[in-house]
Amino acid sequence: MNGKTDIIVVGTGASGLFYALNVPVDKQILMITKTTVDESDSYLAQGGICVLRDEDDYDSFFEDTLKAGHYENDRASVDVMIRTSPEIISDLISLGVEFEKNNGELAYTKEGAHSKARILYHEDLTGKEITSKLLAQVKKRNNITIIENMAMVDLICQNNTCNGVVASDTAGKIHLFEADYVVLATGGLGGLFHSSTNLQHLTGDAIAIALKRQIELENISYIQIHPTTLYSQKPGRRFLISESVRGEGAVLYNRKMQRFVDELLPRDLLTKAIHEQMEQDQSDFVWLSMQDMGSDIIKNRFPNIYQHCLEEGYDITRECIPVTPAQHYFMGGIRVDLKSRTSMNHLYAIGEISCNRVHGANRLASNSLLESLVFAKRAANDTINKYEISKDYQLNINVDDYQDLEQLKADYKTIILDEIERSKVIERIDNKKA
Ligand SMILES: Cc1cc2nc3c(=O)[nH]c(=O)nc-3n(C[C@H](O)[C@H](O)[C@H](O)COP(=O)(O)OP(=O)(O)OC[C@H]3O[C@@H](n4cnc5c(N)ncnc54)[C@H](O)[C@@H]3O)c2cc1C
Repeated sequence: MNGKTDIIVVGTGASGLFYALNVPVDKQILMITKTTVDESDSYLAQGGICVLRDEDDYDSFFEDTLKAGHYENDRASVDVMIRTSPEIISDLISLGVEFEKNNGELAYTKEGAHSKARILYHEDLTGKEITSKLLAQVKKRNNITIIENMAMVDLICQNNTCNGVVASDTAGKIHLFEADYVVLATGGLGGLFHSSTNLQHLTGDAIAIALKRQIELENISYIQIHPTTLYSQKPGRRFLISESVRGEGAVLYNRKMQRFVDELLPRDLLTKAIHEQMEQDQSDFVWLSMQDMGSDIIKNRFPNIYQHCLEEGYDITRECIPVTPAQHYFMGGIRVDLKSRTSMNHLYAIGEISCNRVHGANRLASNSLLESLVFAKRAANDTINKYEISKDYQLNINVDDYQDLEQLKADYKTIILDEIERSKVIERIDNKKA
């Protein structure tokens, strides 16, 4: 399966799908995805998506985002994200996304470090609602083709210009897909860690490829740990207990069943407090109680969490659950500007794999889906505004270089983890200098 198309989008999460929907239908788009279309972190988002409710909330939304991000955020990116949020929500609603309503008006919830309720949600399955509706729209478009079980292993590039993607199918066969533009929408890198809320196949491949191809990265060691995931001794993905549970009144207890922290602290500070408590308690978890919310609210507002915990042996309407922190989100990534352009010509990066520094050193809850969609749309507009057909390049790829895919996978993992460690050391040196 080789050939040339107009645009290749790598990844079918919310950012990749929304990008594709924002490109006019006269452009042919090929979307490739590592496993199946419905296996993306976008499907897993529970809590919701932030929106600027009215002008009065601008300053407070801006300040909450900056405060959570330790004021390391890029202010222009934050401004664009907040200002564009009503437009994105209205796009989603017109594409069929349904958000919770109270008496016919949109309902808003609150999560940790938000000073106001400004999060739209759909039960505790907001990501599934948004992503499945986007996917349904993409499937209606004749100009978009999706190939599943096709993993990008490298970029085709020359003279700092991207001309396509090298990809492998599940049988290990290598395919060369050429295009005028490539969009990296490959999500996070939780699959590299022992304990993460992310799907295990999200291993940050694009970061390794960026390092190999000298594409600029940013804040590569900025990795967010989520304070509350369901404790389990089983290996594999950790089940998230959304922050909105604490936003709606759930409390944390130590071993002696005493509250020990403000449950609505920003994620990094709450994670630190939980780790300290676990050490003091000589325990691998602390307890989370939702019981005061009442059985009806729990079952209606958090049906997915209720059901999952039940399957794991806990009835959250009647008992506490053990929770522990786990890797959750990647604030760093491939450096991009406000139009999601990378340092390589004809190459965009959007969603969690990109870094426009909107989240600074720590992401505010429910800003991720929003950021992914805002900057995916900007990337799509930019691609079209300056569209140039790629020509005069050589296909300089030797497919034999990709025969040992297991080795390549191991090498990519090492390259990324080494780079994260290296950048932590640089950060420590920089902090000492300051
Ligand atoms: C459990 C959980 C709950 C969350 N809750 C919220 C929330 O309530 N609100 C919020 O705003 N955010 C939340 N987030 C974060 C948010 O869901 C993600 O940051 C966001 O959805 C990322 O979207 P994306 O399009 O960048 O990546 P993803 O949705 O992860 O999609 C990545 C895509 O890239 C593909 N891919 C990866 N590598 C390759 C490769 N080498 N070749 C081909 N394809 C590849 C994958 O298969 C996938 O299709 C949550 C995350 C998790 C894990």
